[in-house]
Amino acid sequence: MQMIKFFLIVFFFLYSSLFSSEIQEIYVLEYGKSYYPSHLVNTLQKTKSVSMSWLFYLLVDSENHKILVDTGFSEIEYSKRFGLSFFQSPAKVLEDAGFKASEIDSIIITHSHFDHLGGILLFPNASIYIQKSEYENFSKTSEFKKYSTHFQKIKNSNQLFLLEDSTILTNSISIQKTSGHTIGSQIVRFQAKGNSYVITGDECYFVDACVQRINIPKEAAYSVKNNINFLNTIQKSENILTLHDPIHILKAGNLHYYKIISK
Ligand SMILES: [Zn+2]
Repeated sequence: MQMIKFFLIVFFFLYSSLFSSEIQEIYVLEYGKSYYPSHLVNTLQKTKSVSMSWLFYLLVDSENHKILVDTGFSEIEYSKRFGLSFFQSPAKVLEDAGFKASEIDSIIITHSHFDHLGGILLFPNASIYIQKSEYENFSKTSEFKKYSTHFQKIKNSNQLFLLEDSTILTNSISIQKTSGHTIGSQIVRFQAKGNSYVITGDECYFVDACVQRINIPKEAAYSVKNNINFLNTIQKSENILTLHDPIHILKAGNLHYYKIISK
C-alpha cells in the first residue's frame, strides 16, 4: 500500500510538471532571405516573385525546456541553389539569440523538406517529433541517407516520436496532422500568456493570404483539400506564425532573431 502511494505521488509529480509547463518565450529565427516564385506559394501579391524569409522557431517553457519548431538547414549548396542571401547556420542564429545548440531538448518537424528538417544534425541531444507517415515517406528518399545514422541513434535512445494524427505534447502545446503540404505535414498550436498561436509549417506561407484562406497551389500541395480544411480551422483570435513570412522578423532590425514574447 505504501508502495502504491509512493508511485502515485511520483506519477502525479511527473504528470503535473510536464502538463503544467507554459510557454514563456517565443523566438522567430531567420537563417536567410530570398525571392521565390509566386506561383509556388499562397500570396496576395501579384508580382512574379515574392520576397521571403527562411525561418524556424524556438519555444521556451516555464520548466526551461527548449523546443524548436523546424530546424532550417546548413548546407551552402542549398543556399546557393535557392538564391539565399544573408545565409548562416541555424545554430549560429540560435547562438546569437543566446542559446547553445546542445541545449535544445525537442524538435517538432512540420514536414521533411530540407528547409524544415535539414538542420537536425546540429542539435545532437534533441528528441524529434514527426508524423509516422512523413518519416516513412522520407526514409524512402535518397536525401534520408545523410540522416539515417542520427535517426537510428535517437531511436535507440527512445527520442524519436513517430506521431499518428494529433497529439497533445504538454497542456500548452498540441500538434495536429494536416497532410495538405505533404503526406504527413503537421502544424503546432499553443497558448502563451493568454494568447493563442498556430505555427503553420508550409500549409501557409504568408499570413495575410492565410487569414483570407487562400490555399497553397496544387504544385506545392499533397492535398489542396486537406490544406483548405486546415485553413478553415484557423480562428480569428489565433496569431499565425509561418516559416517563410518576414512579417515578425522585420521588427528585428539588423538582428536575425526576434522575441515575439518574453518573460
Ligand atoms: Zn519551407
